[in-house]
Amino acid sequence: MTAKIIDGKAIAAELRAKVAAEVQRLGQAHALVPGLAVVLVGENPASAVYVRSKGKQTVEAGMKSFEHRLPETASESELLALVQTLNADPAVHGILVQLPLPKQIDSQKVLNAIDPAKDVDGFHPVNAGRLATGLPALVPCTPLGCVMLAKTVHASLEGQEAVIVGRSNIVGKPLIQLLLNENATVTVAHSRTRDLPAVCRRADLLFAAVGRPEMVRGDWVKQGATVIDVGINRVPTPDGKGRIVGDVAFAEAAAIAGAITPVPGGVGPMTIACLLVNTVRAACAINGLPAPAV
Ligand code: NDP
Repeated sequence: MTAKIIDGKAIAAELRAKVAAEVQRLGQAHALVPGLAVVLVGENPASAVYVRSKGKQTVEAGMKSFEHRLPETASESELLALVQTLNADPAVHGILVQLPLPKQIDSQKVLNAIDPAKDVDGFHPVNAGRLATGLPALVPCTPLGCVMLAKTVHASLEGQEAVIVGRSNIVGKPLIQLLLNENATVTVAHSRTRDLPAVCRRADLLFAAVGRPEMVRGDWVKQGATVIDVGINRVPTPDGKGRIVGDVAFAEAAAIAGAITPVPGGVGPMTIACLLVNTVRAACAINGLPAPAV
C-alpha cells in the first residue's frame, strides 16, 4: 500500500473540538447556546443509531440537543406541525428530520417546511439555490466533509481535475458547487456515463458517491490521486454479521492513489461533525452575529 490514509475519525474529532471551543466562546460572549433538534419517525434501527450519535455529539460540543420521536404511523400533518413548532422555537437553531421517512409522508414536503435558516442538513431548495448562485448557504454535511478531507491533503484544490461519481441531491450535486467554489475543474459521472473507468482515471480528486460496493477498481484510479469514498455498503460475510465497505475497492485503490479515505472511518465521521458546524453557523446567522471560526 502506498497511499496516505486520510483519517476521517481524527480529523472529525479535531473539528468537533473547534466547534466546542466556538460554542464556549458564544456562550461567554453572547449568552448563546446553539440548539439542534433531531426528529426521528418510526423505528428504523440504522436511523435510531444515527440519531443517538448526533444527540450525543451535540451535547459533547456544549450545545443543546432536542430529540423528537414520532411513531411509524405518524401522519404527514403531525410531522409538519412539529416542524412548525421547531421553526418557531428560539432555542432551536438547527432542525434535522432523519431520512428515510415512512411511506405515508412526502419527504420533500417536510424538508421544504423547515425554515431555511434552520436547515442544517442543507436540503431545502432555498439553500440549494443559494449554494448554486454563490450566496451564503447552509451546505449539506457529507459533501462539506468531503471537501474538508480533500483540503487536508491539498492546501488548494485550484485547477485540480475533480471527478464526482454520483449526482444525488444530498452528495453529488452540492459537491459540484463546493468544488467549483474551490476553483477545481469538475466532471460529474453517473449511471449513464460512457467509459466510467476512463473518466475516473482523469481525476486528481476522485469522489465516489454511488452506493455500489467496491465498484471503483484500482485501475480506475490515476497514480497519486486523492480518493474520497462516500459509500457505505453492508456486504455479507460467512459469519452472517456482514461488514461495511465503500464504493471503492480500497486495497486496490490504495496501491495506486496518493491519499485515500477508509470506510468506515473516512467521510462518515465528518458528516456528523459538519452537522455541528452547520448548527453553530445557523445559530450565529439567526442571532445576527458574524460567521463563526468553524
Ligand atoms: P443515490 O442512490 O441517491 O445516488 C447514487 C448515484 O450514483 C446516482 O447519481 C446514480 O446515477 C449513480 N450510480 C448508480 N449506479 C451507478 C453506476 N453503475 N455507475 C455510475 N454511477 C452510478 O445515493 P446517495 O448519493 O444518497 O449515496 C451514495 C452513497 O453514499 C451510498 O452508499 C450512501 O450510503 C453513501 N452516503 C454516505 C454518507 C456518509 O455520511 N458517509 C451520507 C450520504 C450517503 P443516476 O443519477 O444516473 O441514477
